[in-house]
Amino acid sequence: MQYISTRGGIDPVPFTKAVMMGLATDGGLLLPRTIPRIGSSTYEEWKNLSYQELAFEVMSRFIDDIPEADLCEIIDRSYASFDSAAVAPLVHQDGMHIVELFHGPTLAFKDIALQFLGNIFEYLLEKQDTVMNILGATSGDTGSAAIYGVRGKERINIFILHPHGRVSKVQEKQMTTVTDDNVFNIAIHGTFDDGQAIVKSIFNDLEFKASYKLGAINSINWARVLAQVVYYVYACLHISKHENDKTTNFAVPTGNFGDIFAGYIAKRMLPEGSINKLLLATNSNDILSRMVNAGDYSLGEVTATSSPSMDIQAASNFERYLYYLLDEEPERCKQAMEQFSQTGALDLTDFKDQIQRNFSAVTATEEEVTATIAQCYKENGYIMDPHTAVGMHCALKHRENGVPICCLATAHPVKFGDTVETAIGKRLDLPESISSLLQKESYCELMDADKNLIRDFIKAHATH
Ligand SMILES: *Cc1c(COP(=O)(O)O)cnc(C)c1O
Repeated sequence: MQYISTRGGIDPVPFTKAVMMGLATDGGLLLPRTIPRIGSSTYEEWKNLSYQELAFEVMSRFIDDIPEADLCEIIDRSYASFDSAAVAPLVHQDGMHIVELFHGPTLAFKDIALQFLGNIFEYLLEKQDTVMNILGATSGDTGSAAIYGVRGKERINIFILHPHGRVSKVQEKQMTTVTDDNVFNIAIHGTFDDGQAIVKSIFNDLEFKASYKLGAINSINWARVLAQVVYYVYACLHISKHENDKTTNFAVPTGNFGDIFAGYIAKRMLPEGSINKLLLATNSNDILSRMVNAGDYSLGEVTATSSPSMDIQAASNFERYLYYLLDEEPERCKQAMEQFSQTGALDLTDFKDQIQRNFSAVTATEEEVTATIAQCYKENGYIMDPHTAVGMHCALKHRENGVPICCLATAHPVKFGDTVETAIGKRLDLPESISSLLQKESYCELMDADKNLIRDFIKAHATH
């Protein structure tokens, strides 16, 4: 499989090059040249595969430059750290299916992609006899999942900036209690946006980037999307065993459009109708639901909510979908993205019908999130985190039309315990892994939000 850029400015590259490139060198995002199609008989044969076996079947259709045995081994290692043998177990209740994606080491769905990406990086750096210094800014979830994805790996050092005092206690402890020599936590006096701006400006210094072999781990890496395609297929297979129905809607709590875009790829890959619609759920940062409902993709202000990992306006993976919306014509995609970066808006009203063939969208207010957590607890005893509740709110709105719905549970409730405890009116039992984590000592540099200071710190601690 060869990969191309949404903006058409690169020669096609194989999977391993696409992973190391991250962002395409023309500023676009990488996509497979074609989306493989799975026939009904193959799909039937997949029904009894384990998660890891299925991951191999799905991924190997997109990867032809890693030997099969090596890919199998990378997949097995990536999911060995999960506390559920099923990796992404399904819960069925009250006509609703929930696929739990939070059984990895940091209790959020980003582990599914970042455990895999960390192992792929390690494998490729070894083959190419080189090293990488990963630099990233986080508002909480990505940083811890990225650190756990690469901790202890020999050819990789990781530098993660988080806003001091503005991440949850569990998130902070998950990041700062990791004692491996290759992990550097930097708390900055400032906001997530300050951290993001510093990271961007350091990456823009191309000379520095090349000499310190900087790498990124953000959600635009194709390997992350690919790892996420797997659980859609897994969930579909399990639900079709459960329901005589052959079709499913997925409710997806959405921020950067990475998770739901993986669903879009799965939809195009699987036999016609296996996935009916993708229900796009946002919190009050609703640019993407406006896009689906009104064709209005225009930036608003970012507001803080109880689902902070979705407090995003410009969705970094949206360009990938736009490429398909614009008939896979890179020139048009490039122009649209240029217009968006100049004006902060794209008018997609003419595409509304086309968009709504694949997506429906609902926004959840803060009150609706708390009410949904409370309702599901009261009716079924199921406790969910606020991100999952945004998706569940959307699912409940679509329940009437009779198609089975699968909700993606993207974080463990203890990760956002304050909101959950307020909603259900009782304390949560902390899993042993979290209570011992909270006792551990933190290791972290506290620094001013000054790009020169951060750059000097990287110089002093980079791997060569
Ligand atoms: C990152 C994240 C999301 C949003 O996923 P996107 O791929 O950015 O749309 C939802 N829930 C949780 C818990 C997350 O960490």
